[in-house]
Amino acid sequence: MSRPRLRVVAVLGGVPILGQAPRRLSDMPHDPAQRGCIPVYRDGEPNHCPGCGRTHWHIGRLTAECAFCATALPLEHVHV
Ligand SMILES: [Zn+2]
Repeated sequence: MSRPRLRVVAVLGGVPILGQAPRRLSDMPHDPAQRGCIPVYRDGEPNHCPGCGRTHWHIGRLTAECAFCATALPLEHVHV
């Protein structure tokens, strides 16, 4: 019986973490392709609210909030 081959699967704080890499996409904890649509507020473009369809927004540092129904969207250029 062969031993499983370990390889670096992550680096946390500069320390390599050894483990078995997932062999199939279904073995991963999540599938990024299945996460669906993620609406964002794009600066300089008409942004229609996904809640009410209107285009008046209150822009903050991290999010934009619809002035009519308070739906909040993350700003496109903000990466937290
Ligand atoms: Zn709205």
